[in-house]
Amino acid sequence: MEKNKEQKYNLLFEQMIDCMTNPNGFDREDFVEILKEICELFNISKGVTEFYKSLSAEKDGQGEIMVDYDNGKGDKVAIYRRIVTPSMAVVKSTIYMAADSEPLSDDEYRKVDIILRAMLSFISRNRLQTVVENLGYYDESGYPNLSNYMRYLDQMNEKDCIRGNVAVYYNLRHFSLINQEIGRIAADKVMRSYFETVKAVIGDNGLVCRVGGDNFVLFCSKEILRSVLFILDGFPVTYDTENEKRVMISAYAGVFVIPDDFVYERPGEIVGRIIASGQDAKSERSGTVVYYSEKSIAEKEKLMRIRVDFSEGIKKGEFKAYYQPKVDINSGRIVGAEALCRWVKNGKIVPPIEFIPILEQNTDICQLDYYMLDAVCKDIRRWLNEKKQIVRVSVNLSRKHLIDIDLLEQLIKIIDKNKVPHRYIEIELTETTTDAEFLNIKRVVNGLRKEGIYTTVDDFGMGYSSLNLIREIPWDVLKLDRNFIPSEENFGVTELMFRHVVAMAQAMGLECVAEGVETMQQIELLRENDCRIAQGFYFDKPLPAAEFEKRLAAGKYDNI
Ligand code: C2E
Ligand code: MG
Ligand code: MG
Repeated sequence: MEKNKEQKYNLLFEQMIDCMTNPNGFDREDFVEILKEICELFNISKGVTEFYKSLSAEKDGQGEIMVDYDNGKGDKVAIYRRIVTPSMAVVKSTIYMAADSEPLSDDEYRKVDIILRAMLSFISRNRLQTVVENLGYYDESGYPNLSNYMRYLDQMNEKDCIRGNVAVYYNLRHFSLINQEIGRIAADKVMRSYFETVKAVIGDNGLVCRVGGDNFVLFCSKEILRSVLFILDGFPVTYDTENEKRVMISAYAGVFVIPDDFVYERPGEIVGRIIASGQDAKSERSGTVVYYSEKSIAEKEKLMRIRVDFSEGIKKGEFKAYYQPKVDINSGRIVGAEALCRWVKNGKIVPPIEFIPILEQNTDICQLDYYMLDAVCKDIRRWLNEKKQIVRVSVNLSRKHLIDIDLLEQLIKIIDKNKVPHRYIEIELTETTTDAEFLNIKRVVNGLRKEGIYTTVDDFGMGYSSLNLIREIPWDVLKLDRNFIPSEENFGVTELMFRHVVAMAQAMGLECVAEGVETMQQIELLRENDCRIAQGFYFDKPLPAAEFEKRLAAGKYDNI
């Protein structure tokens, strides 16, 4: 090789090594420029270097072109090199020459080959490093992942660009069905295409990431949010262009509009909020978007806390049966009692209104009711053993039980286990609203009656009371709701209705109990209207068992 060329080669080689080992970072443009000069020096017409993350990526032709040069003069292969790295990535390079050009001499071939090998080994290492770096920020399908999102939030915060923007979590609706219907491959395509659509809407001033399955999170400006929500509301995606096959994709979403006074501490705080709101959106039937608000989350936290504390509380015996006497207003004698649940938590009493509605959202309430019945039976058993005064005790049963086929059996089991005669137990059930419930209630009441257990329709007159409820079902007791009891403010029609309902119920053989009696005046009205039994603060609030026992021992009230 001539001297000039040799010198030029040495210089370029040196430059190339400098470029690859530059401590200030690798400059791709410089590198490409050097390679171009090398190609010109050796009369190379074309050179291509490709990188594949894995052997299968190579097989599928899914690689990246790292360097290419083409002077358009021909493509006869002169040198081909392929290396597989220890982590199974592939880098390959092909050098072409014009068909009519002088082939490389042995010496030239060796020199070009050395350059090629140096380059390949550098690229494989350099590229792998970025691949490894990126590995943590992308999922196996190449979507940016949650770490990517969190890193982005941190970066935005550093630039003070968090406030006034929007974070969104969304989940694709019925995506498993779409998977089944069009197959996994087409569904993957659909997901990708929908993702790209959202990404395009967000543009450069935001980010959308997949956080597992069909869950996504995004960050965008307030102005863009409307367009994003438009896509999430439903957007057709084509998965088979030839046959024009499309599916409609929609998502439910949790949105956090980051307020101007928001104090950013960790990205997880934002992510937690949008996921929580997103879960609310899932459970809401019609709404597809739920905006995060401090209040709703606080309520949700309270709800979760009660659920968790409940199972603990049951184990620790924190739930107590309190007894409110039912009094015969003519004699003042205690003729019965209602057991009402009290939760004694950290020395404080939690009233039922704070936890019963929550427990009624799932079947936790059933566990509580069985627990209460058991507690009442244990008290009655003790009174029996101690030969104390005893009255019939009513226990409230949530309507949630009605669908339970084994309800009757369970109730009897608890009562019999405690060896309590059935006549001491009364079950209170509230009015029903649906036909199905009506049938269930009928079945349960009939069953209880056969067992000699008393039944009460509770809160009568409060909900959508139907006369059918008392005509068709053989109740023992009708308990009139507090709002239905005539009082000073509540007179006229109320009294008229009260009088007739009591008369009708008694004519049908039902015992009438007035609930929530607070004044002597009410007692007089009850007397006038022939309603003999009253329960209410006028006599006593619900009492702990020991207090109630004292009342029972005394036997009667003198304040009438
Ligand atoms: P309820 O069955 O209608 O019980 C009567 C409620 O009225 C009780 O409230 C009682 O304390 C209250 N009350 C009694 N007399 C008066 C009065 O003179 N004035 C006023 N203002 N209120 C009076 P509590 O104990 O807070 O219970 C509320 C509701 O929680 C009960 O209504 C019942 O539906 C439910 N509940 C209580 N314990 C249980 C239980 O163990 N299981 C189920 N499923 N529900 C229960
Ligand atoms: Mg009741
Ligand atoms: Mg009631």
